[in-house]
Amino acid sequence: MDSPTPELRSEKMLAPYACHENQSPGRVHKETSPSCRNQYQRDRDRIIHCAAFRRLEYKTQVFVNHEGDLFRTRLTHSLEVAQIARSVARALRLQEDLVEAISLAHDLGHTPYGHAGQDALNECMREYGGFEHNLQSLRVIDLLEEKYAEFNGLNLMFDTREGVLKHCAKPVAATLKEVGERFLNNTQPSLEAQLANICDEIAYNNHDVDDGLRSGLIEIEQLLAVRLFKDEYEIVIKKYPNLARKRRIHEVIRRMINRQVTDLINTTSENITTISPRSVDDVRQTTKRLAQFSEEMLSLHQELKRFLGANLYRHNRVRRMTVKAQRLIKEIFNAYISDPALLPADEQFRIAQPDPWPFFGDGDARKARVIADYIAGMTDRYAIAEHQRLYNPEKSD
Ligand code: MG
Repeated sequence: MDSPTPELRSEKMLAPYACHENQSPGRVHKETSPSCRNQYQRDRDRIIHCAAFRRLEYKTQVFVNHEGDLFRTRLTHSLEVAQIARSVARALRLQEDLVEAISLAHDLGHTPYGHAGQDALNECMREYGGFEHNLQSLRVIDLLEEKYAEFNGLNLMFDTREGVLKHCAKPVAATLKEVGERFLNNTQPSLEAQLANICDEIAYNNHDVDDGLRSGLIEIEQLLAVRLFKDEYEIVIKKYPNLARKRRIHEVIRRMINRQVTDLINTTSENITTISPRSVDDVRQTTKRLAQFSEEMLSLHQELKRFLGANLYRHNRVRRMTVKAQRLIKEIFNAYISDPALLPADEQFRIAQPDPWPFFGDGDARKARVIADYIAGMTDRYAIAEHQRLYNPEKSD
């Protein structure tokens, strides 16, 4: 007997409210179906093979790459999101390959130096429609990757693009055709998209505790004021009273992740039972999100977020790097905007072409947008090197 193709095998295990490729609006540019993969595997593969994905390795999550080899980067963060999201998707019989594709692509639009870089670029772009990393992720997969003969971007499935675009202002959404519609109609994205979004938060809140402790910027004693940490810490200490600090921290964090993931699966499962969606369209038409934490977990999760905001992200050492990074990004932008001849030839050529997203405007706005696209694509270390080349006369190239 023939074994079913991978596509059929995975389709059979899916819940009716999962994303099914044969019910999807599909791709903007029509393509033949892949033969040995499903459509979402193809998306995942395209993302992994794109240049923006490789650059994530040298982009800051919280700690700058050269501060240490063990801190998370945008790349390892994205892999952790994908790992958590796949586990949840499988437990709920959702489309794992789609949730993985969304997770791996969600941060492709991030600037060098994380949120500091984004804030600086947004300020530079204030007169020209601003800059927002999430919208930029869609721009990368829809337009900026130059790999395929027949289209710009990666020509991903609607469901992947829907998951990547987590939020969007209405005037912009109105110009993005079907992927912008839900922001105008106040409807929901698929469960796979909802999950990838929450798993992003689970990943960064927990790995930032780990990185924060490793860096010495936060201490275990401070974290004992956070209920989620304290509960699991007490369990670990009781079971392993003599455990070394490094293992103790890991045992606590793995339990924190497990508790949040289990709560997310259970609560989402209960919501699915209550609403009983029969298709992904039913999921999209619900007034509230189905993928959620319980109220108790939500309050624990928010307490952890507040702690990290106050004690890690606004820590003096992180803040000093933030200010330096913002200055660096602004100075690179100012050099290019005052003399676009400083840009590589390809970017100068792009300035003369109309933007495929016409709402960003033409003329000076187009020039600024090409510069923002170019800067957003830089890695941390490329931005430092380019700043040197632009401002240090001793650097000749
Ligand atoms: Mg993220």
